[in-house]
Amino acid sequence: MKILNLVILGPSGAGKGTQAERVSKRYGIYRISTGELLREGIKEETDLGKKAKEYVRKGILVPDPLMLELIKKRLGKLKNGFLLDGFPRTLPQGEGLEEILKEARIGLSGVLSLKVGEETLIRRLSHRRICSRCGTPFNLATSPSREEGKCDRCGGSLIQREDDREEIVIRRLRVYQEKTSPLEEYYRRKNLLYPMEGEGGIREVEERMERVIQKILEGYGKEKGDSGRRNCS
Ligand code: AMP
Repeated sequence: MKILNLVILGPSGAGKGTQAERVSKRYGIYRISTGELLREGIKEETDLGKKAKEYVRKGILVPDPLMLELIKKRLGKLKNGFLLDGFPRTLPQGEGLEEILKEARIGLSGVLSLKVGEETLIRRLSHRRICSRCGTPFNLATSPSREEGKCDRCGGSLIQREDDREEIVIRRLRVYQEKTSPLEEYYRRKNLLYPMEGEGGIREVEERMERVIQKILEGYGKEKGDSGRRNCS
């Protein structure tokens, strides 16, 4: 069996969560979404949830030490075969992840970076609704639930995330530019970055992603002399 350990990067609304879920099902790999873990913690009022609540509500990043602690606990339990969605989000998180993986003798297979224009991001986020019970995302314009306001999966009621309000969305996009986008260069230098077009329908992006993952599995571009500058669109 080939090993597949992935990171998915992209601003809010790029489709990370939706695509990550599909990839994890298709390849039978474990998905870790730090945003979902934080929202669960906030709902259940865990220690982490209490500490993270205000940051998440305001659309700013939870401090790196808290996030590294969370990811260390999660990754400590698993071996190969995972997909990180929403982590790392800063250079120190990227470096911390490298340390954690090194200790566990696990390597990253690739970092998928979804590229989507700001106008599309804002439109997608303003239409996004999530299930208040199981967290499944829907989009009022492109992938609505069968019954209005109700989750197809568990029947829970659909709500708008507090941090999907427009003023918070704009802040989250700025935070992505400032804090997260430097990770692209970080992974490009390590020859792990796979930038890909994230505009278009869910199925279209999924097919694109599928092709990129096949390339990763085939060890595409790993030969000597590769510049690490890929463009998979
Ligand atoms: P997401 O669901 O990935 O959009 O994350 C929602 C919110 O959770 C973000 O706006 C941050 O406040 C917080 N968050 C999620 N992942 C991280 C991370 N790796 N580092 C810091 N904050 C995070």
